[in-house]
Amino acid sequence: MNFISPELSQYIDDHSEREPELLKKLSRETWQKVVQPRMLSGHVQGRFLSLVSHLMAPKRILEIGTYTGYSALCLCEGLAAGGELVTIDINDELQWIQDKYFQASDHHGKIKRIFGNALEVLPSLDLAFDLVFIDADKENYIRYYELLIEALPPGACILVDNVLWSGKVMEPILPGDEETRVIGELNDLVTSDSRVHNVLLPLRDGVMMIRKK
Ligand code: SAH
Ligand code: CA
Repeated sequence: MNFISPELSQYIDDHSEREPELLKKLSRETWQKVVQPRMLSGHVQGRFLSLVSHLMAPKRILEIGTYTGYSALCLCEGLAAGGELVTIDINDELQWIQDKYFQASDHHGKIKRIFGNALEVLPSLDLAFDLVFIDADKENYIRYYELLIEALPPGACILVDNVLWSGKVMEPILPGDEETRVIGELNDLVTSDSRVHNVLLPLRDGVMMIRKK
């Protein structure tokens, strides 16, 4: 999932703000105890999420795909005073590790966690979010985008993760590979959508950064 050499990757790590200790521990424990630890955002992407959040100082953040809570904690760093982060995940087996690290962080009281299928949860939420991180099931990326884009306020930012999908978006799509097909279609859709500004950032596995006009 990385397109640059290990040496350059190390240089990028070394020239990005240090990873907070609590997040280092969460990353380590995720790698030791949870399946598919590569899904965790990690140092540089986490600092990017934190920086975007600081720049926006959002009142309300939505995250689709909590996993072990790493990206949620990064996004919380820039919340405006009194702000909240709503994070949705379908897998409640991750609750113990989220609890452990949310409680140990400065952000515990600001996080509203919802277990469920995001497609079913979203229609029940007030969708006036300032910042959204979409990072769950890739097959539903277009549905998430379509549910959100009209409802979000002007100036809202959406970050969509894994939009390069290890480069597979460039290759012929294998029969049945819905994830790659939908990610590719979302990239096309966003780029031709006159309602938004967008840039595809080659950060890690690709982050699509979108601002609603
Ligand atoms: N954002 C995390 C990683 C998320 S991994 C980080 O950067 O650290 C993707 C997560 O999406 C998994 O935990 C998975 O359980 C969740 N997920 C998959 N399908 C979902 C759905 N339909 N609704 C909500 N969450 C879903
Ligand atoms: Ca991801």
